[in-house]
Amino acid sequence: MSPDRNNLQPGWYFRLSRFFKEKFGEPVYKIPIDAGFSCPNRDGTVGTGGCSYCYNPSFSPFSCEKPASVREQISQGKKKNRRALYLAYFQAYTNTYAPVEQLKELYDQALSASEVVGLSIATRPDTVSEEILDLLEDYAKRCHLWVEYGLQSAHDQTLVKINRGHDADSFSRAVDMTRGRGIYTCAHIILGLPGENREMMLQTIDFINRCKVDGVKFHHLQVIKNTALDRGFQEGKVAVYKKAEDYIPILCDCLERLSPLIVIHRLASQAASSDLLIAPHWSEGAGQIASMVETELKRRGTQQGFRHQT
Ligand code: SF4
Repeated sequence: MSPDRNNLQPGWYFRLSRFFKEKFGEPVYKIPIDAGFSCPNRDGTVGTGGCSYCYNPSFSPFSCEKPASVREQISQGKKKNRRALYLAYFQAYTNTYAPVEQLKELYDQALSASEVVGLSIATRPDTVSEEILDLLEDYAKRCHLWVEYGLQSAHDQTLVKINRGHDADSFSRAVDMTRGRGIYTCAHIILGLPGENREMMLQTIDFINRCKVDGVKFHHLQVIKNTALDRGFQEGKVAVYKKAEDYIPILCDCLERLSPLIVIHRLASQAASSDLLIAPHWSEGAGQIASMVETELKRRGTQQGFRHQT
């Protein structure tokens, strides 16, 4: 079901929880999975050292030890939540970076668990092929399926600066290749990347609107210990939104520019371990950020899509 543009109230944005409620009639929760993948931007295939902000354990709730089997992780995730329906969220590293047979085995393991109604697969836009998408299309015929592509910025000079190892065209190509297969696509973006101003961030929103993704996950820039970004931060070359109040205005600007049809998976980053987080240290959790966004959009008398340029 798509939101009716003419019926949107100030403060409104298209939450993933609402999307799931409309689709399944009840809440759906994601269980994060570390399936033991690696990343082509670390092992030398695309690059080495990884993206400048990335220390994977900081944004996924996994340790560096060998992960438990997918089946075990799902059963632990269910125990923690005790909810009705789940998506297996292949989160850690690049979750299409393996031969198709191995991918199939891992995704099948996830879907064999009861109450798992689908998959959400996080990956790089340069790490899907027609063969992999054919496999995913087959899953999409029998379960609910999201592919989450890392973009971060639509500006190639920024992507070079953060050592992403792909350009913006690579993202639009991957989304085009995925379209028409019954698979939902989600873009990951980061607000506040080095060298980016408000206009550049809004151009990234225009870009994902044009790509016609189905969802977006917003992150604010975080500096994690022992990353390249950390070194730049210590040298005073990298700035962050020091307080959540500094981030809300640009986030709301982006939401106003975003198509009202795009589902919001997340409004800000989550760092699993405060030991690893150098900056910024906000006290607000996801619920508080959501309510700050709603308050700000209401104050402006706007909502998601209010300034969307068709
Ligand atoms: S952010 Fe993703 S693509 Fe970049 S180095 Fe980390 S795992 Fe690899």
